[in-house]
This record gives sequence, structure tokens and C-alpha cells, in this order.
Amino acid sequence: MNAKKWIAVAVSGACGRMGRQVCRAVLEDDELKLTAAFDEREGGKDLGAVLEGPELGIVITGLTPAALEKAAPDVLVDFTTPSAVIPNIETALECGVRPVVGTTGIIQADVVRLGEEVGKRGLGAVIAPNFALGAVLMMKFAEQAARYLPQAEIIELHHDKKMDAPSGTALKTAEMIAAGRLEPTAQPTQKEELLKLEGARGGVYERVHIHSIRLQGLIAHQQVIFGGLGQTLTIRHDSYDRSSFMPGVLMAARKVMELKGLVYGLENLLD
Ligand code: NAP
Repeated sequence: MNAKKWIAVAVSGACGRMGRQVCRAVLEDDELKLTAAFDEREGGKDLGAVLEGPELGIVITGLTPAALEKAAPDVLVDFTTPSAVIPNIETALECGVRPVVGTTGIIQADVVRLGEEVGKRGLGAVIAPNFALGAVLMMKFAEQAARYLPQAEIIELHHDKKMDAPSGTALKTAEMIAAGRLEPTAQPTQKEELLKLEGARGGVYERVHIHSIRLQGLIAHQQVIFGGLGQTLTIRHDSYDRSSFMPGVLMAARKVMELKGLVYGLENLLD
């Protein structure tokens, strides 16, 4: 870290639902200082107007290498879209800025490729499909349960504006369930089924069926149901408000300064 007392943070997707919340959280934090805001919307406006507060002297622009170099933050927090996030991370790395990424929809091959790029540049980076501590615990508990109850299905429920399906959290949970299973005792969940409606059994990842629900009124919720002989176990997490993600985002923005390499998943940042 440099000699400054604070960590300079820029936010991409600053005008979005998550981005606005992140900007407010960074503004209220003593160790972090919000120095730039990037978005495709509201270009030229002061961020204060977007946050419906006092003027901040931070003018919203698109995220380009020149704009990021000029702002020179320590960290770029990204909550944008599945199509924007990869170029944004690449721009950050080219400018020597550490990315902290909450945007979902990043495929595993890109995580691996970006990890190599982060390593080559001697930087730190965090990609977390879910920044809510309770959700991270839900995933960890699911991994533990899979050792004894290998048959599992996931129901993930999100607001109807969510662009990707299934959620990054659901895919990460399925990966962790697969890692937690003792392979010799694992029960395959796939068999010959008569499907009267295409997709009725959801998507299948690592032998875990994932069902995605999109409805108004929801924020981010997930239920993992394990089946065993004569019993089921349900692990559920609910984010009722986007504030649930903020402690994890702020923690990652601090910890990324000490990291060398890419950390994928908030659980790998917990002490
Ligand atoms: P949103 O409201 O649509 O916000 C995304 C914002 O990014 C929009 O203002 C969008 O502008 C802007 N944008 C698009 N391309 C950009 C670019 N190249 N550079 C800078 N900004 C750009 O979405 P949201 O609900 O905030 O969610 C954002 C992402 O976070 C999603 O992937 C969501 O799944 C994820 N998420 C993650 C967590 C977590 O804990 N990891 C929690 C909640 C949500 P336009 O609308 O003009 O394109």
C-alpha cells in the first residue's frame, strides 16, 4: 500500500442498484475514500445527484483506460453486467488497479485466465459471487452436509431484473457440494425421467439440479435441499436488502491491498 492513510476506491456500475449502495458504504467508511465513479448512465453528472445527496465533486464517466489512469485508485469495485465485467477487470489490471468484483455471470475459464493475469502483474484481486456473510456460511454448511448427504438440489430466487441464470452463488454452491462429496458414496441424481415440460428439472451442474426463480419483490435468496433415506435437510439464506452485501464488499476492498493473486469466493478471505 502507498503512504496514504486511506485506500482510494473507484466504483464501476456506480449508478446501478448495487453500485449506488457501494458508493454510499465507501463514503461512510473511515479507511476507504471514494475517488471515482464509472457508469454507462448519467455521464457528466455529479455522483451526489445520483445518490440524492450533496454534491461530491465526483463526475460520472465511462470506464476507459485513460479515465482510470487519471483517477488512479488503489481498488476498482465492479458491479456492472456480465458483458462489461471482463473488459473492466482487464482495464483495471492494465492500469495496476486491484479489482474487487461482485458482478456475476463470469465463467470458470475466465476466472482461471484472469487469475493468471493477476499473478503475472503481481497484483491482488477478489471475485465473489456473493458478498453476504450469511450466504458464504450457507455455502460452507452445504459443502459440509454434502459429505453425508450427497444428493442435493438448489432453488435460487432473485428479483426479476437479474440478467444471468442460474446465479453465481448457485453455481459456486454446486461446486462446493461437489467438492464436499465423498465420491464412492455419492448417489447420482440423474436417471431416466419422463419430462413433460422442458426444463422442469432445472439446470444440472456437478450433478446438482439448480432451479432459478425470478420475481418482483425478491432480492437474493437461496435454498439448498439435501435428501437422504427418510429425511431432508434444508439450508436457506435470505438477503432482504442490498445492505447485506456491504460489509463483505468493504472487507474485500481492504484485504485486496494485502493479496498477491486472485481470490475467488468471500469464504477464502474470512479469518
Ligand atoms: P444494475 O442495477 O443493472 O447496475 C449495473 C450498472 O452497471 C448499470 O448502471 C449499467 O449501466 C452499468 N454498466 C454497464 N456497463 C458498464 C461498463 N462497461 N462500465 C461501467 N458501468 C457499466 O445491476 P445490479 O442489480 O446493481 O447488479 C450488478 C451486478 O452485481 C449483477 O451481475 C448482479 O448479479 C451482481 N450482484 C452481485 C452480488 C454479490 O454479492 N456478488 C450481489 C448483488 C448483485 P446500463 O444500465 O446503462 O447498462
